[in-house]
Amino acid sequence: MLLNDKVAVITGGASLNGLGFATARLMAEHGARVVVLDLAGAEPAAAAAKLGVGHIGLVADVTDKASCEAAVAAVIESFGRVDVLVNNAGITQPRKTVDITGGDYDAVLDVSLRGTLYMSQAVIPAMQRRRSGSIVCISSVSAQRGGGILGGPHYSAAKAGVLGLARAMARELGADSIRVNCITPGLIETDISKGKLTDERKAEIAQTIPLARLGEARDVAGACLYLASDLSTYCTGITLDVNGGMLIH
Ligand code: NAD
Repeated sequence: MLLNDKVAVITGGASLNGLGFATARLMAEHGARVVVLDLAGAEPAAAAAKLGVGHIGLVADVTDKASCEAAVAAVIESFGRVDVLVNNAGITQPRKTVDITGGDYDAVLDVSLRGTLYMSQAVIPAMQRRRSGSIVCISSVSAQRGGGILGGPHYSAAKAGVLGLARAMARELGADSIRVNCITPGLIETDISKGKLTDERKAEIAQTIPLARLGEARDVAGACLYLASDLSTYCTGITLDVNGGMLIH
């Protein structure tokens, strides 16, 4: 039990095949009280109920500062503390550079980058009061290698922005004993890519990956658990690749 009695908030955590829900499940198995935070349409309360008793689901839009603050206030009211934040909410769009509209840019950057900032801002005061906390930000291999497989350049930019934001927060918040780290997943089979790749294309991609398979949500959940737990107490500002060797650098 690596997270006994810790309170973990996971944004975008209600997608049952997604990285967030796999992380929620693993953290719950490790003793955390989990807060699944997601858009109303994703039904976070129903997702939280699947984790068992003692976990809650909250509706929040990470692009809306007031919504993030209200959600964290509700967490404090229910549990009195926040130990772990996983900034997982994200969307992607397949676009060529010249086709990215202002609206596309706003949509993709707002969820991953603005959302990471707003949710971090919302939990930091509570973490500072306890002089303890772990913030895990989900970036992407797309930020490191100039595109993953599916997202356009604006997605790469959003995820590169997450790396920069997380590193700067790590430097600033170290004095408060708050750790901030990133995970850069490779291609993981979730709803984000559902129906967008044929089985033949997936097999071709797998051949280019040293571990010879696409990732599974639990591969990323394990990395989140490590960064959230006391196993990683001297890690801050790091980028943990979970990509099967797709990018070795
Ligand atoms: P997913 O689509 O299954 O889950 C994303 C979740 O984010 C959904 O539950 C969605 O409702 C939620 N969300 C979207 N906008 C939101 C908002 N404004 N406020 C709150 N929640 C919101 O996708 P996934 O594959 O599990 O992706 C999770 C994260 O991992 C994303 O940040 C994604 O960019 C990143 N990532 C995924 C992969 C991959 O291959 N699956 C690779 C690298 C990075």
